[in-house]
Amino acid sequence: MDCIFCSIASPIYEDAYVIAFFDAYPVTTGHTLIVPRRHVPDYFSLNTEEKRAIDRAILALKRRFDQSLKPAGYNIGINNGKAAGQTVFHCHVHLIPRYVGDVSDPRGGVRGVIPSKQKY
Ligand code: 5GP
Ligand code: ZN
Repeated sequence: MDCIFCSIASPIYEDAYVIAFFDAYPVTTGHTLIVPRRHVPDYFSLNTEEKRAIDRAILALKRRFDQSLKPAGYNIGINNGKAAGQTVFHCHVHLIPRYVGDVSDPRGGVRGVIPSKQKY
């Protein structure tokens, strides 16, 4: 199978179920992708063990980044399906550290998937 996320060489975190690695085109410093080892397309295909492992990874990486990068917040998101913006069809969770001033007005956060509706 020709999948970039099935052949990541140097993860920054791993366990029996998941790996995590830096996004190649980060939106902020530390933008990380957490993926199940199993090639499944989206969140809805994950089993319970994988979902628990993803949650552990998010928490472990948050603790690590809190120390090293000292962000002021995080966005956590999954694009499921082409219509939702997904481009790599191996399930992945975006963990995006956020820094004060990285955008002029962050209000609305993930509502920005529909840019005209981000602010409310
Ligand atoms: P999606 O749009 O599917 O939710 O996210 C795909 C993500 O994968 C994007 O943020 C993109 O920057 C990242 N990406 C694409 N190709 C590569 C790659 O070869 N290596 C890594 N580490 N990230 C990639
Ligand atoms: Zn894959």
